[in-house]
Amino acid sequence: MTSTTDTQTAGSDRGKDASSESRTYGNFINGTWVSRDELIDRYNPATGELVARFADGTAADVHRAVAAARKAFDTGPWSQTSGAERGELLYRIAERIEAQVERLAHIEVQETGKTIRVARGDLAGVVSHFKNAAGLAWQTTGESLENLGPTLTAVNVREPVGVTGLVIPWNFPALILAQKLPYALAAGCTAVVKPAETTSGTACEIARICEEAGLPAGVLNVVTGYGPTAGQALTEHHGVDYVSFTGSTASGRKVIEASKSNLKRLALELGGKAATVVFADADLDDAADAALFAITFNQGECCVSGTRLLIDDTVADEFLTELVRRAEKLIVGDPMDDATDVGALIHSQHLDQVLSFIKQGVDGGAKLLTGGERLTDGVHANGQFVAPTVFDHVDPNAAIFQQEIFGPVLSVTRFHNEDEAIALANDSIYGLANSVWTKNIDTAHRVSRALRSGTVWVNTTIDGSAQLPLGGYKQSGYGREGGKHGLEEFTNIKSIQTRIGKRRHAYPHTRGPVA
Ligand code: NAD
Repeated sequence: MTSTTDTQTAGSDRGKDASSESRTYGNFINGTWVSRDELIDRYNPATGELVARFADGTAADVHRAVAAARKAFDTGPWSQTSGAERGELLYRIAERIEAQVERLAHIEVQETGKTIRVARGDLAGVVSHFKNAAGLAWQTTGESLENLGPTLTAVNVREPVGVTGLVIPWNFPALILAQKLPYALAAGCTAVVKPAETTSGTACEIARICEEAGLPAGVLNVVTGYGPTAGQALTEHHGVDYVSFTGSTASGRKVIEASKSNLKRLALELGGKAATVVFADADLDDAADAALFAITFNQGECCVSGTRLLIDDTVADEFLTELVRRAEKLIVGDPMDDATDVGALIHSQHLDQVLSFIKQGVDGGAKLLTGGERLTDGVHANGQFVAPTVFDHVDPNAAIFQQEIFGPVLSVTRFHNEDEAIALANDSIYGLANSVWTKNIDTAHRVSRALRSGTVWVNTTIDGSAQLPLGGYKQSGYGREGGKHGLEEFTNIKSIQTRIGKRRHAYPHTRGPVA
């Protein structure tokens, strides 16, 4: 059952402080908020309180949203606007988001369990992506080719790819939306967004901000709901030209299957198993801080989490003693407290999965140095909290070395030379990111080139800027997000070729007398 209501009731309880009562959202289709009777309840992962209710979108909702996006693309005006017009509107949206960063950050904390410090950083990233895409909208053009000889000229025009389906995961709901949406809009595409069923609040809020900033109806649509229903309907829809999907590698395979219906283009940002590779000549104080940050940032629920630490055996004991000392000082708890370092895991099934990996680590003979347990006392009583966990002497064949855990669980393996370090880092089906720690510039360059991942950080980790591309090698997926590469993903190249002057005939022998 759906019914159309106005923005104020169905879009969100906009005037309400995000920290008070629960928020209820409808779907945003063709510029109208459409409420549904069937709702998905979202409970705060840190407290167990009801914080939001999202429409349980169906295939019919997706169909209506795609039809709206199709019409907005095919008949304009969005796809016909100038880059400057699109850029100006994207910049206005960025400014409006910037004015609401604190409220949006609170919503992210309530729905994801991440800390307020991380949420604020995410929202700053959202603003940067909208501003960066605004600038790129002005600048992005095709190319002209004048060196094809005196009688042939050509332009390669860059056209928007069309109607896009943007599927978002729960770990960075606003940031990953912003890695896709403004670039799609900057290119002149229209979009149907399917946020994660657990964390749809900020996607709805950003849609409302886009609407208020003047984005025409139908250009952006949001259908909330579950992956196998709303997500599947979107990825297999014939009216969608392109799907940008971020999520697990298992879901990515289903998206590939669904895309076969009309051979739509895909970008897939999937799982990761990043290594932090620390050589003996590194600044070990910096490297210890980074190795800990890389596995505990966002509770380890990050596709580029440094989940494997590869450490030079000659400094390993000293390094790990210091790492564990620091890990035990981290504050795990109330995500809304500015002092908190590590928040709550997304939901109880995920908590069970992380605990099961920890058990596999212990059973497999790895040495547990710290953590390894769920926290249930005091502030942790009603939430899904796991102590930062470090395993030493992890066998490269072990599940905790090979599989994505998506929690604050670090696997440490020692190496004895550079070749062994590279081989261990590359011993993964994933290839999203890695980080290298050394003060030797030759080692830094050699190892960076040898690592098979879309990002390599040298003497830094989980770093970046809206200008830089993010994407995978191997089973971490394909396509790039962010920066000019991210915008170009949402375009097609058309080559328009023109002959100048009289044609040199292919079949001169067929020619009759000139009339
Ligand atoms: P998920 O694959 O379960 O869900 C991601 C999104 O896909 C959700 O919106 C979900 O509803 C939807 N979905 C699920 N099944 C679908 C289907 N059959 N068809 C269409 N849509 C479907 O992943 P998750 O648990 O939300 O997120 C965690 C995963 O995402 C991890 O594996 C992580 O590594 C990955 N991730 C990757 C990146 C990256 O940039 N590469 C970034 C963040 C997260």
